[in-house]
Amino acid sequence: MRAFGFTAARTLPEALRLAGPGSAFLAGGTTLVDLMKLDVLTPGQVIDINRLPLHGISRDALRIGALERMSDVARHPRVYPVIAEALALSASPQLRNMASIGGNLLQRTRCGYFRDVHTACNRRQPGSGCAALTGDNRTHAILGTSDACVATHPSDLAVALVALDASVRLVSRAGERLVRLAAFYRPPGDTPQVENDLRPGELITEVVVPRLPWARHSTYVKVRDRSSYEFALASAAVALDVRGGVIREARVAAGGVGAVPWRLPAVEATLRGKPPTRASFEAAAAPAADGARPLPGNAFKVTLLKRTIVRALMSLEARS
Ligand code: SF4
Repeated sequence: MRAFGFTAARTLPEALRLAGPGSAFLAGGTTLVDLMKLDVLTPGQVIDINRLPLHGISRDALRIGALERMSDVARHPRVYPVIAEALALSASPQLRNMASIGGNLLQRTRCGYFRDVHTACNRRQPGSGCAALTGDNRTHAILGTSDACVATHPSDLAVALVALDASVRLVSRAGERLVRLAAFYRPPGDTPQVENDLRPGELITEVVVPRLPWARHSTYVKVRDRSSYEFALASAAVALDVRGGVIREARVAAGGVGAVPWRLPAVEATLRGKPPTRASFEAAAAPAADGARPLPGNAFKVTLLKRTIVRALMSLEARS
């Protein structure tokens, strides 16, 4: 690990004033410290923000402070099931007790080449190439990729929040803005090193989830190589508004398959007006992988994605 300066900020204005080129904010540290140990990230200044008043889960619209820990949010009774389940299926209990909500949304890809400074990686070192294209790409993305990068976005929480059309509040010395999470993440294109819309010196202060009472009927299904402490091969966040035996509204997003959390509007549109049956779910899932660019190691994800969506919808209806 390289040498770095360290400051603990006591207020939000102080944290924003301290932020500058080459600095990094520290909350739970479960991603930042990992990557600093590997020399993948080498901030000159680390700003501890754990004392900032960015906690709390409000009772009106669902607003989650960026410094809330994953385990606390997963247990909170106001949180929609799809969010609670996505959090409960993330990482390990120890990490969920440490990792913050804001940090979870900003975690870096789990592509092994990104974390190995001796291999080519456009995301870590722009212009160096992508070792995953010809290497081990079994866990990589099939949707939203480019010739420069095929990494998946690793956050389960982000998939659930994109399904619910949540936003993040971003604060800097220049002011604050609310950005829809679906627009916050950037597909890799020619600049995979630019992963999101966060500007220099900006901090996520809270997540805002629109009020959506029928999203109490929601769930998150995650398919992975082992049942704990593993990232998704494919996942599905689903919510259904079913009245009178007809699906009135649907939300569906996928993880483990996209370069960014992947909302599936074609699947949602197909579900509307149909009865909540397996036949409807299978028909709706059919276009889920349209536009996919599978690699030799991960072509299985095309079928896995569709089956994961059907499984999530079936398990949700089984609760009715
Ligand atoms: Fe790097 Fe992306 Fe290629 Fe992985 S997939 S090696 S993160 S450029």
